[in-house]
Amino acid sequence: SQRFIWPLAQFGELINMYQQAVASSERVFGLMDEPSTLAQGDDAEELVVSEGRVTYDDVTFAYEADETILRDVSFDLPGGDTLALVGPTGAGKSTVLKLLLRLYDVDDGSVEVDGQDVRDVTLDSLRRQVGYVSQDTYLFAGTVGDNIRYGAFDASDEDVVAAGKAAQAHEFIEDLKDGYETEVGERGVKLSGGQKQRVGIARVLLQDPDVLILDEATSDVDTETEMRIQESLDELVADRTVLAIAHRLSTVKDADQILVLEDGRVTERGAHDELLEADGVYADLWGVQAGQIDSIPAR
Ligand code: ADP
Repeated sequence: SQRFIWPLAQFGELINMYQQAVASSERVFGLMDEPSTLAQGDDAEELVVSEGRVTYDDVTFAYEADETILRDVSFDLPGGDTLALVGPTGAGKSTVLKLLLRLYDVDDGSVEVDGQDVRDVTLDSLRRQVGYVSQDTYLFAGTVGDNIRYGAFDASDEDVVAAGKAAQAHEFIEDLKDGYETEVGERGVKLSGGQKQRVGIARVLLQDPDVLILDEATSDVDTETEMRIQESLDELVADRTVLAIAHRLSTVKDADQILVLEDGRVTERGAHDELLEADGVYADLWGVQAGQIDSIPAR
C-alpha cells in the first residue's frame, strides 16, 4: 500500500508570511498580502503571556466563502503542554496553526492565549510571543548572524553565538568563509536544508517565545544532521507550550494531547495510549507498522 508522510508541504506560505513578521510585524506588514487585511483594533492591547495556555473554542473557518475548511475545532492546551496535530494532507492542520498567529481570522468561535482573544491583542505582541519553526526556514538577504538576530534585534553578538551553539549550528557557521558575518540568502552562500533549519531554530531560541508552533516535517538530511536537529529541537521545546504538526513518532507518542484531524474536523483526540485503546483511525495508523518505522504511515 502507498505510504506517505502526512504533514509535508502546504506550509510554505505560512513560512514566508510568518518569518517575515516574526520580530517586527509592523516593519514588514506592508509586504504581506493576506495578513495586512487583518485590522488591529485601536484598543488592541499587548498580549500578556503568563501560563501559555492555548484555547480553541468551536473554531470554524473558510478561506473562501462557502468552502469551510475547519469545523468546530476545539481544544484546551495548558501552558507547557504539547499538542500533536495529525491527519492527512489537506485536513487543515496548517490552517489551525495559522489562526493562532492570526494570519487569518476565524469565522466563528475563538482562539485565545491565556484567555486573551487573538483578535484583541496587537499583532506584534502576538507574533513575538508565538514562535514558529519549520524545516523550511526563510533566510533574508544579510549575514547569517543577522538572520539569527532577527529573533531579537537587541541581542548581543554573544547571545547570537550562544543561540547558534544551542541550535547545533555554530560549527558549520564557523566553517563558512566569514563565520557569522557570511552573507546568506538569495545573493549569498547557499545553505543546505538542514543548515537553514538550524539557523531558524537559533532565531527562535533568541526570540524565546512562550508558545511554539513546530512544523516537524523533515527535509532530506543525513542521519547525523537529523540527530543534531533533534537535539536542538529538544532544547527549544522544553518549558514551552508546543503545537506541532507532528511527524516523528516520538513527538506524537509523547504529546500530552493528540488531535486527529480529518477534513477539517477533529475525529479523535487523546493521548497515545488512549487512542490506541480506542482502536479507531489513530490505532489503525500505527497498527502493524508502528514498530517498523519512525514516522506516520498513510492508511
Ligand atoms: P494540512 O496542513 O492538513 O495539509 P491545510 O491546512 O494546509 O491542510 O489545508 C486545508 C485545506 O485548505 C486544503 O484543502 C487546502 O487546499 C486549503 N487551503 C490552504 N491554504 C489555502 C489558501 N491560502 N487559500 C485557499 N485554500 C487554502
